[in-house]
Amino acid sequence: MSSVKLDRISRKFTSTTAQPEQRFIGIDDISFEIPDGEFWVLVGPSGCGKSTLLRIIAGLETATSGSVYIGDRLVNKVPARQRDVAMVFQNYALYPHMTVAENLGFGMQMRGTDRSIISRRIQEIAKLLKIDTLLDRKPKQLSGGQQQRVALGRAIARSPQVFLLDEPLSNLDTGLRDDTRAELKQLHQQVGITTIYVTHDCVEAMTLADRIVVLDRGYIKQIGTPTEIYHRPIDRMVATFMGTPPMNIFPASYHDGYWQIGERQISCDPDIIDRLRLRDRQGFNLGIRPEYLSIVPDDTPNSLLATLESIETLGRETLLKVQIVGTSTQINLLVSPYWSQQIGEPRAVERLGNQLTIQIATEWLF
Ligand code: ATP
Repeated sequence: MSSVKLDRISRKFTSTTAQPEQRFIGIDDISFEIPDGEFWVLVGPSGCGKSTLLRIIAGLETATSGSVYIGDRLVNKVPARQRDVAMVFQNYALYPHMTVAENLGFGMQMRGTDRSIISRRIQEIAKLLKIDTLLDRKPKQLSGGQQQRVALGRAIARSPQVFLLDEPLSNLDTGLRDDTRAELKQLHQQVGITTIYVTHDCVEAMTLADRIVVLDRGYIKQIGTPTEIYHRPIDRMVATFMGTPPMNIFPASYHDGYWQIGERQISCDPDIIDRLRLRDRQGFNLGIRPEYLSIVPDDTPNSLLATLESIETLGRETLLKVQIVGTSTQINLLVSPYWSQQIGEPRAVERLGNQLTIQIATEWLF
């Protein structure tokens, strides 16, 4: 196991088809240090540089500038094979003609490990990953989830100092993906190998990570624990990227003691005003997660007025899309499936185009 340190890493690619100002793409001036044994997730929209960064750590790509350290060792000039990292990709890349056991043991065999040690290690890993009944099968006789576990097993078998995983679950269907994600987390807790995991899925990032690195167009936007990233996003990009449905952003203005949102005035706690450093008559964007808005009876003070535009039943909760009256802003609310019964006669309340009264749980404002 080992820490991983990136010091001012950049990788420039030249795009001949792009506009002159967008010619240089890639990643720019990335620095962070992952302590030994932690699970970090690199997340961000497509093209933000996640895979490039992972490939630079693996030694499959060369940085234009900057340094990569694995433990205390500067590895810029160390070839991929000698970096002591194991990488798992989205397409599991198992050897199709070998059995599961042979796939797991191949790396050790190549290194000349003793047969009895290989065989014991294969059993241990297969048990850990719950593939011990599949050892004689060929990859094509396995489900996607089982193949992915074999790919992970093959990586573990190398006892690397660092695990690099590039969207390893994206080929799995939803149920399997959730199960494998939970197993991956458990696995990390058992083996404790420093892990860097790339995904564009914010749920995966939130559930797996000790720390998340949010990247955008080649830059680091924010590094933090899942809770910090969710509750204290540094800007609008992070706020709207992390969370499903995304954080609502709606325009408001501050007037001595209250906020004007659409047609309504909402009196606000002086502490929040201090925290937001708002000045009188200042316009700002209010960011509120869908679960911190609720539907309340019409006469509730300090509430907003909105028109109901759509209702999506998600099972455990219901997603409402509403438009704040007096604005063109549409926002999402996550409410109880019984929301309409809680405030009045359901069929009348649930009619699209109806006006609803909405309350903000202001303790969640940042
Ligand atoms: P995705 O989630 O779609 O896989 P990503 O965040 O992993 O995206 P990268 O694959 O790291 O993004 O690519 C970052 C940027 O660098 C993109 O704009 C990509 O087009 C560009 N890029 C990556 N590899 C090359 C290359 N070999 N030549 C030119 N441009 C490249």
